[in-house]
Amino acid sequence: MPAFPSEFQWGVATAAYQIEGAVDEDGRGPSIWDTFCQRPGVIRDGHTGDVACDHYHRWPADIELMTELGITAYRFSIAWPRVQPGGKGPANPAGLDFYDKLADALLAAGITPVPTLYHWDLPQPLEDAGGWMARDTALRFADYAAIAAGRLADRIGMFITLNEPFVVTAFGYALGIHAPGQALMLDALPTAHHQLLGHGLATAALRAAGARQVMLTNNYSPGWPASDSTADIEATRVFDILQNRVFTDPVLLGSYPDLGAFGVGASGLECVREGDLDVISVPIDALGVNYYMPTRLSALPDSPLPFQMEPIPGYPVTAFGWPVVPSGLTEVLTTTLGAYYGASLPPLYITENGCSQADEVASDGTVADQGRIDYVGSHLRAVHDAMTAGIDLRGYFHWTFADNFEWSEGYHQRFGLVYTAFATQRRIPKASFGWYRDLIAAQRKER
Ligand code: BGC
Repeated sequence: MPAFPSEFQWGVATAAYQIEGAVDEDGRGPSIWDTFCQRPGVIRDGHTGDVACDHYHRWPADIELMTELGITAYRFSIAWPRVQPGGKGPANPAGLDFYDKLADALLAAGITPVPTLYHWDLPQPLEDAGGWMARDTALRFADYAAIAAGRLADRIGMFITLNEPFVVTAFGYALGIHAPGQALMLDALPTAHHQLLGHGLATAALRAAGARQVMLTNNYSPGWPASDSTADIEATRVFDILQNRVFTDPVLLGSYPDLGAFGVGASGLECVREGDLDVISVPIDALGVNYYMPTRLSALPDSPLPFQMEPIPGYPVTAFGWPVVPSGLTEVLTTTLGAYYGASLPPLYITENGCSQADEVASDGTVADQGRIDYVGSHLRAVHDAMTAGIDLRGYFHWTFADNFEWSEGYHQRFGLVYTAFATQRRIPKASFGWYRDLIAAQRKER
């Protein structure tokens, strides 16, 4: 592995609903994921995040494992329904206490805490009032950000506002395969604007409360046309707007891309009010990049979304069936982001990257996950290639620390460096854990 700069952050990433469990404890209110998981048929095998990795109780042991791993930073998410059970109004001190203790323990272990404020667990009462379709949710989000930073910004320097707002809009509100399970198709577009407005308002609130660095995390995927036909190239352009531009142009460039392909007229989205784009484009200190795979596209005439996704043959696949394409990560960093945004691009962090595998515990108690070692190694080389090409990249957070609740897939997709035996909550570090530990140690020795 080539040497990374001495100040490069080596981390892992998790999210509250995927690991914490304890959904009824210490005053936590219901989130849209608690509600959604009760709907028959939406989550594989009817799994829920009620217990997940029981991290809410087992966090001290988890931090011990993270210390053994040698990470320098830990990206986790704060559950809004713990901090403000009703989504508005006074804070729940017990909810804040949990993150307070977590932050202190991380700092004592020499690990920089990097919290995300919104990793998809909207308080249910806010969804009942319209969710991200309602402009008011953006304002509520800024209030919550102020409360969280008010308690934590004296010790936590960097906050991430939203995780993957694209997935919230596309899966949560357009297709209905994630919470809150609404299938509004293109009518879901206001949820994009309201999340971005929430990001902008929260950024100001975080800074006012003393946060030193604010970041937004998006998931990016390079679009590859399935053929060189004009129709497939146009389909790829439209995909690129939706996946890579709608949630980034307003923040970095202060304007929306052309949304004509989605039936939006020249005057733009109706929900955008004067001054909103100034709020949204307030400077951020870094951009978080989640990367899993490229997307290959062909035209789909006579459809509201004029593209369809095609398989990408010729690459190994993960347990999810996702193609393993490390060069796609270099392409995201250098082309999708670097070449496109130029001087407007802030420093980058890889805030998620990893793969699911059908990991099993062998009779000798070990978990041999060579596929994950190959995956992470090749993607880190891809990151290094982008840095050599001039991209300012400051850290890498592996998705994820331990196998956890993988949304619609329940507990079926294992992404962890640590194997979670869900029946007993036993943690078994996989081979990739030792590999990542040794890699971090070697990189830090070179400092
Ligand atoms: C999300 C994670 C998720 C991962 C793997 C990302 O879209 O932020 O919560 O577990 O992908 O699917």
